[in-house]
Amino acid sequence: MTSAYPSPPQVSVVVPCFNEEETIAEFCRRMTAACEAAAGGDFEIVLVDDGSRDGTWPAIETLAAADPRLVGVRLFRNHGHQLAVTAGLSVAAGARVMLIDADLQDPPELLGEMMARMDDGADVVYGRRISREGESWFKTWTAAKFYRALDRLSSVPIPRDTGDFRLMTRRVADILAAMPERHRFIRGMVSWIGGRQVELPYELQARFAGVTKYPLRKMIAFALDAITSFSTKPLRIASWLGAAVSAMAFGLLAYTLIVWLSGDAIPGWASSLTASSLFAGTQLLVLGIMGEYIGRIVDEVKRRPLFIIGAVRRGGIDMPLHGAGEPSYDAAIAELRRLHAASGAAVTPPPSRKAS
Ligand code: UDP
Ligand code: MG
Repeated sequence: MTSAYPSPPQVSVVVPCFNEEETIAEFCRRMTAACEAAAGGDFEIVLVDDGSRDGTWPAIETLAAADPRLVGVRLFRNHGHQLAVTAGLSVAAGARVMLIDADLQDPPELLGEMMARMDDGADVVYGRRISREGESWFKTWTAAKFYRALDRLSSVPIPRDTGDFRLMTRRVADILAAMPERHRFIRGMVSWIGGRQVELPYELQARFAGVTKYPLRKMIAFALDAITSFSTKPLRIASWLGAAVSAMAFGLLAYTLIVWLSGDAIPGWASSLTASSLFAGTQLLVLGIMGEYIGRIVDEVKRRPLFIIGAVRRGGIDMPLHGAGEPSYDAAIAELRRLHAASGAAVTPPPSRKAS
């Protein structure tokens, strides 16, 4: 039996949005224009509301009601940027998938150029930032240092100066969505997948409106996730540090013995205090490094769902959901057929999950 429903869109755009009420309409205007130029009418824009506390979801609802190519996904709570992207990937049905932030720091208009490079055989086209407009010197400097350190630690080459702004084939997007890890560093995971990865240099723009949703605390957590998911070298460094400090301790012991045998009294409480606090500090540091890994093991073995989807809205209709929120496509299509038959109105059906 032939399906009355269309094939998957040429491209899905996945957009994590956290408190972006001021930017979302302008983002959709520019992104829709860029998609129309690059893929004709055949696209979907998946806007993931990551538990925003402002008017982001109502704005998404209004936009999605006016244009069935805009899909709203609402998470039950804030799960963080990387998991919001993952939730969007679980819903996106396109033959190609673009990841882009909602704040217009990454220019939507580059979609055409990314599509062209993929036509030439790339599996992934990632944006590389050649300049960062409107970002603090602190962020630019720490980002540069961090990527250099990560490059040295990781056995997977992760290109420097990239964000998650990229276009992937359906296959790469499926592999990425199926990777079960909770502490996600998506740009690294995509590098790990391999295939033909091509860069597209671009200038990072200033935020359209609002402020960064990555305060220092989240930046540090993200950097630690990146390092612990792509390297175990810090554990080895901890071992070497332990060895070096133990060697020093033996040296000190020998020195103490010599002084004792020579019969001198030892007034040096200051030096012994220094030595013991040095050793205690080193031990705590090494334990802390181990703790970073052990904490993540605990998180991973719990095997909780990565995110909980509260609603998926397509063409003004909420899709039926099950479990943690993987939309049930069979149920959704059945529901749409029923609505369609009952009203006779033009209901936009969801695209099929199965890429041809
Ligand atoms: N974001 C999100 N959940 C969060 C934090 C951020 O979905 O908990 C989104 C945010 O709305 C934006 C993108 O992730 O679209 C990148 O965040 P932001 O622009 O604040 O980070 P920066 O560019 O300053 O590093
Ligand atoms: Mg940003």
